Amino acid sequence: MSQNKLFGTNGIRGIVNKELTPDMAVKVGLAIGTFFGKKNLLLGHDARTSGPMFSRAVISGLTATGCNVFFAGMAPTPALQFAVKNHEMDGGVIITASHNPPEYNGIKAIWSDGIEVSHEQETEIEKIYFENKIQFAEWKQLGSVCELPTVNDEYVEAMKKHVDIAKIASKRFHVVIDAANSVGGLTAPILLRDLGCKITSLNANIDGTFPGRMPEPRPENLAELANTVKAVGADLGVAFDGDADRSIFVDETGQIHMGDKTFAVVEKQFLLKNPNSQIVTPVSSSTLIKDVADAYKGEIVWTKVGSVTVSQKMKEVNAKLGGEENGGVFYGPHQAVRDGAMTTALILNIMADTGEKLSKLIAEQPQYFIEKGKVECPDDKKQKLLDKLLEQLKGMNINTLDGAKIWFDDKSAILLRPSGTEPAFRMYAEAKTQQRATQLIEEYTAKLKAILETI
Ligand code: MG
Repeated sequence: MSQNKLFGTNGIRGIVNKELTPDMAVKVGLAIGTFFGKKNLLLGHDARTSGPMFSRAVISGLTATGCNVFFAGMAPTPALQFAVKNHEMDGGVIITASHNPPEYNGIKAIWSDGIEVSHEQETEIEKIYFENKIQFAEWKQLGSVCELPTVNDEYVEAMKKHVDIAKIASKRFHVVIDAANSVGGLTAPILLRDLGCKITSLNANIDGTFPGRMPEPRPENLAELANTVKAVGADLGVAFDGDADRSIFVDETGQIHMGDKTFAVVEKQFLLKNPNSQIVTPVSSSTLIKDVADAYKGEIVWTKVGSVTVSQKMKEVNAKLGGEENGGVFYGPHQAVRDGAMTTALILNIMADTGEKLSKLIAEQPQYFIEKGKVECPDDKKQKLLDKLLEQLKGMNINTLDGAKIWFDDKSAILLRPSGTEPAFRMYAEAKTQQRATQLIEEYTAKLKAILETI
């Protein structure tokens, strides 16, 4: 972690006992506690082996500043976010490293609306941490700690209000759930049981070493899920990431689908029921999301890449639906944050409503071919490279919210943006043919390299 910087794109993250240590966690707790100032905060963690250790360290810091802590124990991130709002807490802290490998953990601060604190608020917390502006409470004003063990149950009950339980139950769907040995397994099977589904479980036991698969639901980690769906003749397969805010789906043929395809399925049904609504999505999303909006009277609100940005934009414009290509769907009527179990319930609701299989719902959408690329670029040259690139792109159909997204007349598009985590520029191209997508990556790789030689 660099000097004066604690928070990355997704809160504080690091390798346990190397980059993120218990003594740091106590100080982070002190800084977050000082930031909130003697308030009521909810705290919980995912299934990582270091969850109990970091929870107690952060609680120690929070209570030392006079904050009262309501300890929820192990729970999915969206269940904890829901509880912050549901119990009218002043905020919360979540101990999770989401999709990172098992040796990582992290700390996220949550505002009273259940959404992660803003980047400005993170900067305030960093200032308190690095400038030692911690305000310790007197001995008689220390915060209290009490257990709040009902969070997962309340979360499941809340999601059931947003779907037609009887209709889903009448279909007797068979669903394979791959919970990655983490917190998704604490709630999704109960929700789906209550929706009348037959369930086959994979990696359902809690184990913070993630013995079943890595916690990132990428296609290469989901072969077992895809094979199982086919082998048992299930209607649907779902895989969660380590903290169960993202979900990736497998159709009844065993085909794994990227997040924007399933998001587009949710988007279409949402717009059919709620025409003229705004749909919030980052510029990294597929043109598919825009196609669906155009076809079903929706309006796209583009944002920078990042789930917090999507949540905050939804709140700002009062939008009820948001989504990301990595499997994050934000369903505002429940909560404006990514939620893997809620997304699963919505997909089942759509399958029940339309009487269609997931493969059919996806096949009827416009199809795009995707190609990704990367050009090495030192961190100190990223901004200059972007500036020069933007100069060259003048006059094109372009969005500059986050890097450069260019749309072409043949419905192809490319996003070029500096990586937030490594010295590189990342490129995401999509087109109606694989050849065109590949050609775009080649063309812009050459363009970026040519500019780099001049700076
Ligand atoms: Mg996650």
